[in-house]
Amino acid sequence: MTATTSKTTCPYCGVGCGVNFTLPSQVGGAVPPVSGDNSHPANFGRLCVKGSSLAQTIQSNDRLLSPMVEGHAVSWSEAIDTISSKIADVVKTHGPDAFAFYLSGQILTEDYYVANKLAKGFIGTANVDTNSRLCMASAVVGYKRAFGSDTVPCNYEDLELCDLLIMVGSNAAWTHPVLYQRIAAAKQRRPNMKVVVVDPRKTATCDIADLHLAINPGTDAAIFSFLLQHSVQAGILDSDFIADHTNGFKEALNQANESTPNLISTADFCGVSEQEVMILANWWSDTAKTVTFYSQGVNQSSSGVDKCNAIINCHLATGRIGKEGAGPFSITGQPNAMGGREVGGLANQLAAHMDFATPGAQDLVQRFWQAPNMATENGLKAVDLFQAIEEGKVKVVWIMSTNPMVSLPDTAQVRRALEKCELVIVSDCKAHTDTTAMADVLLPATGWSEKDGTVTNSERRISRQRGLLPAPGEAKHDWWAICEVAKTLGFRDAFAFRTPCEIFAEHAALSAFENNGKRDFDIGHFSSINKDEYENLVPVQWPVPKGRPEGTKRMFEDGRFFTPDSRARFIPVTPKKPVNAPTSEWPFVLNTGRVRDQWHTMTRTGDAALLTKHTDQPYVEIHPKDANQLGIEDKTLVRLTSPQGEALLKAKVSRAVSPGNVFTPIHWTQQFANASVVSNLIPSLVDPLSGQPESKHARIKLEAV
Ligand code: SF4
Repeated sequence: MTATTSKTTCPYCGVGCGVNFTLPSQVGGAVPPVSGDNSHPANFGRLCVKGSSLAQTIQSNDRLLSPMVEGHAVSWSEAIDTISSKIADVVKTHGPDAFAFYLSGQILTEDYYVANKLAKGFIGTANVDTNSRLCMASAVVGYKRAFGSDTVPCNYEDLELCDLLIMVGSNAAWTHPVLYQRIAAAKQRRPNMKVVVVDPRKTATCDIADLHLAINPGTDAAIFSFLLQHSVQAGILDSDFIADHTNGFKEALNQANESTPNLISTADFCGVSEQEVMILANWWSDTAKTVTFYSQGVNQSSSGVDKCNAIINCHLATGRIGKEGAGPFSITGQPNAMGGREVGGLANQLAAHMDFATPGAQDLVQRFWQAPNMATENGLKAVDLFQAIEEGKVKVVWIMSTNPMVSLPDTAQVRRALEKCELVIVSDCKAHTDTTAMADVLLPATGWSEKDGTVTNSERRISRQRGLLPAPGEAKHDWWAICEVAKTLGFRDAFAFRTPCEIFAEHAALSAFENNGKRDFDIGHFSSINKDEYENLVPVQWPVPKGRPEGTKRMFEDGRFFTPDSRARFIPVTPKKPVNAPTSEWPFVLNTGRVRDQWHTMTRTGDAALLTKHTDQPYVEIHPKDANQLGIEDKTLVRLTSPQGEALLKAKVSRAVSPGNVFTPIHWTQQFANASVVSNLIPSLVDPLSGQPESKHARIKLEAV
C-alpha cells in the first residue's frame, strides 16, 4: 500500500509548526505517523513532544459521535431545527443580543469567519467572543493603541538574528518549545547573543538566560518605563524616527520620569536589585538589535495593555522596529488566536481587522455581506458574557471547541451562568468534558486530521490544516453546522458555502474590499483562490495583497503605521501593581500557567500516555521557607482557598517561586484524576481596556490538609 501523507499544522500552540501526517495504519510502525515538516518556516522539521505525540491523540474512546438534545441522540436535522427555532424565538422576543457565540483559538479561520458573519451581519449581535480573550487580548489592544492596527511587526527569524532577546512573562521552553529550541540554537551559534528573562518564577526558560529578573508579580511595566528614560540618558534615542514617524514621545517620557524616577525606586517597585536592573539597562543601551518577546505573563493582567505599551514605547523611542532582529513581539498562546482576530472573532471587532468604530466600516461590511441585520456596537467580552448569561440577558450560547467550565476565571460563576441559560449548545469532538456536561444540545465536531482549513501563527503566517482521516460517526465540520443553522434561519444564499476554500476566498475578498492599503490585514491575493490552489497553499505571512503573493516578512520597514496620520503613538504608562494585593487574611499570591506536555484542559493531550509521564498530576509549587512555616512537606496535600473557591493540590516544595508566591498549572479538571479546577480560585478581574482576566495573580491562603 502506498502511504498517504499530508502536510498539515500542529493544533496546539501559537508557534504553528508544520507537520507531516501519515495514516498510522499505513506506516505499520516503520516510520512515525507524525514528523516535523522540513519545509515549514515555523519549525524547519522540529517538533516538541506534544506535536510528535499527535498520533496518540486521534483515536479517542470518548468521541462525541452523534448530535444529542437533552441527552438523547437525534439526527442532525433535528438538532439544527432545535437550535434555529430557539435562536429565532429569543431574537424575536428579546432581541439579537440574547444570542452569543463563545469560540476558541483552536477552531479554524473558516469556522470563525462564518460564525462572525452569522452573528454580526445576519442575527445582528456582536456577542462573538472567544477563549483567545484569555490569551492575547491585551497584546491586541496594545498594538492597536500604538500602531492603529493589530499588527505583529516581527517574525521568527528576528528571534535568531537579534543580539539581545528580552523574554517577558513567557516560559517558552514549555509553552512555545520549538521557538525556544530555535532561540537556544541561535545562542549556541552566536554565544554573544544575550537572553534576559523577566518573570517572577525561575522557569525552564531561565536555562538559557544570561540574566533572570525575578520581579514582583505584575510589575513588568516599571522595567520598561525605566528603560525608556534610561534610553534618553544613554543617548540611544532615534530622534529622526521619533520626529518623522511617531507622536506623543514627550508625554510618554514625562510619565516614565514620574513613575520610575530613578533606578532605586524602580528596583524597589519590582523587588529586584539595582544591579540587576542596571545590567539589563546597559545591555539595552548597547544593543540595537533587540527583540522583546512577551506572552501571557504580560497579557493576563489587570494592566496588561499598559504593559504591552510600555514595551512598545521603548522600541519606538529607539527605532527598534521594522528592522531585522528588532521589535516588540507578542507570541500568541493558541494555534489560531490570530486567525480569529483576522475575521473579527472578538466581541469588540467587526471583521477583517476593522472595528465597529473604524470610520465607514459598518457600511462597508454590510455592503460586502449584503447583510440584513448588522450589529452596530461592541458585544460582550468573555467574562462579561458569562455574567450576562447568569443575569438572564443572554439566553442562548453556542460554545465551540472550548471548555470554559475549566478555563474561565471564577468557574463557580460559569456554572451558575450555564445552569441558568435557556439553551447551551456545545460543539466538541469529545463526549465528556466539564462543559459538555452542561449542554442542552451537543454537536459532534470533526477534529485535527479530519478537517480542512487555515490557521495563522504568531508571526502572521497562514498555514493549512488538512483533513486525512474520515469523520467518525456523524461528526461534521464546525463551519458546516453554522451554515446549516444560518440557512434554517432564512439566510440560505449568504451561507451557501460548499467547501472551506469558498469561505477562505470570501474572507480574503472582504479583507481587500475597498481597502487600498488602508488596513493592515489584506490577503486579497487569495480572493479568487480555487480548490487546487487552496489545497496546495504554502505557508505565507500576511499581508498578501493582490500583486504580492510572497506575503510580508516584516512590518513597518517604511516607518508608516496604520493610524490616520501614519505615525505610531507613544502611550504614557503608569506601572500598576495587581489589583488584589495580598492581605493578612489572604497572604499568598497564586500564579498559574502550563506544564510542558499538557495543553489547556487536557481534552486531547490527556489521551496520550507519553504526555502524562512528564507531569502526571497537578501540584502547587511552594517556596521551602513558606512550606516550613506552614508545616507542609513535599507531596503532602494542601488546601488553597481564595475568596472565589478552593482547590486541593499536592505540594511541590521548590525554590522556583519566591517566598509568598505559589504556582500551579491550569490543566487538570474533574475529568482527570478528579482534580480541583484551579481557575476556581481566580477572580473575574479584567484589564478594563482588553477584558483579559488577571489569571496570573490571585490572593489565596494555604493550609496543610
Ligand atoms: Fe505544536 Fe507548538 Fe510543539 Fe510546535 S511548538 S509542535 S506548534 S505544540
